[in-house]
Amino acid sequence: MANPILVVGSVNMDIVARVKSFPRPGETVLTDNLMMNPGGKGANQAVCCAKLGADVRIIARMGDDLFKERLLGSLLRDGVKTDLISIDSSFSTGVAMILVEESGQNEITVASGSNMRLLPEHVAACSDYIAQAKVVLAQLEVPLDTVEMSLRLAKSAGAITILNPAPARRLPDSVYPLVDVLTPNEIECELLSGTRVSDAASAEMAAARLLDKGVRYVIVTLGSRGALLVKPTGSLQFGALSVKAVDTTAAGDAFNGALAYCLSKDESIEESIKFANTVAAYSVTKNGAQASMPTMENLEEFLKDFDK
Ligand code: ADP
Repeated sequence: MANPILVVGSVNMDIVARVKSFPRPGETVLTDNLMMNPGGKGANQAVCCAKLGADVRIIARMGDDLFKERLLGSLLRDGVKTDLISIDSSFSTGVAMILVEESGQNEITVASGSNMRLLPEHVAACSDYIAQAKVVLAQLEVPLDTVEMSLRLAKSAGAITILNPAPARRLPDSVYPLVDVLTPNEIECELLSGTRVSDAASAEMAAARLLDKGVRYVIVTLGSRGALLVKPTGSLQFGALSVKAVDTTAAGDAFNGALAYCLSKDESIEESIKFANTVAAYSVTKNGAQASMPTMENLEEFLKDFDK
């Protein structure tokens, strides 16, 4: 298969409890609805690419524990190549504890474990694969040095680099020129730019600051309002599909995976954003993270409802 995608990122077991409403500090709420699902932003985005039909590998690190076999098995079943995942027996595999409210909103705590032991040297050891990649996609659930090394190797090999700066944290100035496409949500955009984001106009101003730091395109994801593309020649908003949100966990992951998929097929940035909005909208209509990523057949069925 041509045009491989390489994801550098986290692999977690998501432990998901659905609750009527989030507990306030000091409060305990009861639920009888608990699930364990494979997750982690890196794995979710890789699975999104694979289900759409891409040739995708993930560079990641896992512990040597009961979650490892299950997570490796599920990545393989979904079509992600796992040969670049290494094992660190002195740390536990990453775990994310996720609460989902009836409204579909979520709250997440991540115990990173072995994800934080994915080091620059592990990525450097995969430089042959990076050299062959059409797109390299990273997030911030692994160490920043590792992300920077991945982007640097990818950029010098001529790959398209996408950085989804999630979860939110500040980035050194040296990272921005390594990024072709930066995909913050509104909170991340605000933190990175130091500019308050409250609407499309302020998102545009904040994104312009990030362009000034050397990024080629900024795409601010706006939840149910879609996404805003900001490039040096101007900006353009792409509305979201109107759907009933069931579980917004991994909406951003669906968006980023789909974006990487389209860019790997040489689609324009605008076409890629439209497709990413569709894939992400599909994902919010389904429960779970990786389970909510569509195949092309799923998308065709989904879009038939919009044509009626
Ligand atoms: P994150 O999940 O990273 O916080 P967003 O909330 O901005 O990111 O969502 C990412 C993308 O998911 C949006 O750009 C949009 O395409 C899609 N999306 C999110 N929520 C909805 C929704 N309620 N209806 C339709 N699409 C949505």
